[in-house]
Amino acid sequence: MGHEFMGIVEELGSAVKAVRAGDRVVVPFSISCGGCEWCRRRLPTQCTTTGRAVFGGRFGKVFPGGQAERIRVPFADYLCERVPPTMTDDDALFLGDILSTAYCCAENGGIRPGDVVAVFGAGPVGLLAMQSAQLFGPARVFAVDRVDYRLALAAELGAEPVNVDTSDPAEQVRALTDGRGPDVVLECVGHETPFTQAIQAVRAGGAVSSVGVYVETTMGFQAREAITHTMPLKDTPHGYAIFDRKEDRAIKVMLKP
Ligand SMILES: [Zn+2]
Repeated sequence: MGHEFMGIVEELGSAVKAVRAGDRVVVPFSISCGGCEWCRRRLPTQCTTTGRAVFGGRFGKVFPGGQAERIRVPFADYLCERVPPTMTDDDALFLGDILSTAYCCAENGGIRPGDVVAVFGAGPVGLLAMQSAQLFGPARVFAVDRVDYRLALAAELGAEPVNVDTSDPAEQVRALTDGRGPDVVLECVGHETPFTQAIQAVRAGGAVSSVGVYVETTMGFQAREAITHTMPLKDTPHGYAIFDRKEDRAIKVMLKP
């Protein structure tokens, strides 16, 4: 819990060299050392030094999460990314998880100009994956989900909505592409059923990219559109409740301590 956060640096450990007090920084959700084999291969979520630890998570070494007024960030020189003064908190926050995850998903799909792309899942990651996919110049992008307001938002972002409750989404997507299937399917749900449907939908020899994670901080687009609610720390349970129940058009809830 609280793996996605940013803040102002208040105090430094003695080993920290690159970060200064007063810096406004965003931090990736996964805790990595920067020096092991996997970090050097740009797979920091597989860091063996921390045992693939996540802020507020339960794998590897345990570190508290960011739903708090202060947090200790280990490996601060490697993990803290200074936010340029021209960038708002709303735009920077998601670099730590959902935007980098979504971009990575699209990049790994190997989308080429003119490709047809289907994105399974129109939650926070799926919506950002659709925007990421657009950067690679596809001819069409389909958004596959069952929640109407999320499909409506996907349509506003230029995707063609496909509702999984209407009929088998793999068949729908194939029918919409003259039986051929999309060149690339981005699977942003993380469950077995949509993963299977993604494989059934994709064209012969196409690519299915299921979400993987690394830190990418150079993209600049409208991540803040995913924020539907901003609330103080004390309202956290309410934020989780509306997100879980998909009430009040919730997509992403931001907490401001
Ligand atoms: Zn490492």
